Amino acid sequence: MAKVLCVLYPDPVTGYPPKYARDGIPVISKYPNGQTAPTPQGQLGFNPGELVGCVSGELGLRSYLERQGHELIVTSDKDGADSVFDRHLGDAEVVISQPFWPAYLTAERIGKAKKLKLALTAGIGSDHVDLKAAADHGITVAEETFSNSISVAEHVVMMVLSLVRNYLPSHQYAVNGGWNIADCVSRSYDLEGMHFGTIAAGRIGLAVLRRLKPFDVHLHYYDPHRLSSEVEAELNLTYHATPQSLVQVCDVINLQTPLYPSTEHMFDDKMFELAKKGAYLINTARGKLCDRDAVVRALTSGKLAGYAGDVWFPQPAPIDHPWRTMPHEGMTPHISGSSLSAQTRYAAGTLEILECYFEGRPIRPEYLIVDGGKLAGAGAKAYKLN
Ligand code: NDP
Repeated sequence: MAKVLCVLYPDPVTGYPPKYARDGIPVISKYPNGQTAPTPQGQLGFNPGELVGCVSGELGLRSYLERQGHELIVTSDKDGADSVFDRHLGDAEVVISQPFWPAYLTAERIGKAKKLKLALTAGIGSDHVDLKAAADHGITVAEETFSNSISVAEHVVMMVLSLVRNYLPSHQYAVNGGWNIADCVSRSYDLEGMHFGTIAAGRIGLAVLRRLKPFDVHLHYYDPHRLSSEVEAELNLTYHATPQSLVQVCDVINLQTPLYPSTEHMFDDKMFELAKKGAYLINTARGKLCDRDAVVRALTSGKLAGYAGDVWFPQPAPIDHPWRTMPHEGMTPHISGSSLSAQTRYAAGTLEILECYFEGRPIRPEYLIVDGGKLAGAGAKAYKLN
C-alpha cells in the first residue's frame, strides 16, 4: 500500500461543486502533433468538464486509489515546515502537485522524502521539483505533456489582444459607469502589421504562432532548434539565432521557454534595454524567467507598453507582489493551463501515469522528465539540470 500525497489549489470560496456554465466539454482525442490524449485503462472518477483541480475535486483519483488499497492525502497546505505537505512527505511514495499551486520539492525536502519514488506534475512544467536532486535520489518525475498546451496558447492570444487593444482598462471604465472613449483609445492599437515573436517554439509557442497567423502580423521565433523549413514557409517565419536578436525587432514578445537554472532571469534590465520602446511582453511560461523588479522598471519608464501573464514567483504571489499593481499590467493568477477542459485531460493523464506506475508498465516517454537518475523522455529535450 502506497501513500499518495496530492497538493491541489483550494476550493472556490463560493463552495464546491461550483454551478457549471456549460454541460460538458468537446472531446479531444488527439493533439496537433498526433499524440493521443490520455488513455487510462480504468474509469475516470469524474465527469469531463468538472472542477477536479482543487482539493475537493481530488483529480478524481480517490475511488481508483482506494480500490487498489492505497492511501490518498489531498491538501492545499504546502508551505512551511509544519504544513500538511511536510508532515506527510516523509512516508509518501508518490507526490502529485500542480504548477498552479506548486508544492516546491526542493533538494532539502527531497532529502527528507525517504520513500518518494514518483513526483508527478498534474499539468506541464516540473520546475517546482529540484530535478537534479530528484535524479540523484532515483525519483521519477513525470508530467502530462500537451494536456494544457492549447489552453495556454489560447490564453496568450487573449493577452496579446488585451494589451494591444487596451481591453482591461477600457472594460473598467464601462464597469465604473464611464464612457471615456478618449481615455480608452489613447493606448489602443491594432495588432495587424506588428512584429510578433516567440522565444521558444515548442508545443505552446508554435500553437501561438499558428493562432496569430490570421491576424496578418509578421511572425518571428527563437528556439535552440529550428522548426522545419515547411513550417517556416507555411507561417512565413523569421528565425532568430538569439533571443536578443528577436527582442530588438518585435513589438510583441511571447516568452515560452521552460524554466531551468540558465533561463532564470532571461529578461533583466539588459534585455529590456534592447527592446523597442513600447514593446509588449507576455509570459505564461514561468515568473522567474523575468527579473521581477526589472519588469516594473521597464513598465514605469515606458520601455514596455504592457506586461501580461499568469506566472509568478513564488506562487501564490504575496499580497504585496509588485506585479499586482504595476502600470499597464494584465496579470491573472496562474490559470491558463487549468481551464476545465485542461483539467479533464491532465487528471486523466495523472490516472494513466498512476496506473502504469502501480502496474509496472512503462510510462509514456512523452510524459517522462526524469527517470533512472537522469533527464528522460520529453524532459531530455526540454530541460537541463544546470
Ligand atoms: P515544449 O517542451 O514543447 O517546448 C519548450 C521549448 O522551449 C522547446 O522548443 C525547447 O527547445 C525550447 N527551449 C529550451 N530551452 C530554451 C532556451 N534556453 N531558450 C529558448 N527556448 C528554449 O513545452 P511547452 O511548449 O508545452 O511548454 C513550455 C513551458 O510553458 C513549460 O515548460 C512551462 O514552464 C510553461 N507552461 C505553462 C503553463 C501555464 O499554465 N501557464 C502550462 C503549460 C506549460 P528544443 O526542444 O527545440 O530544444
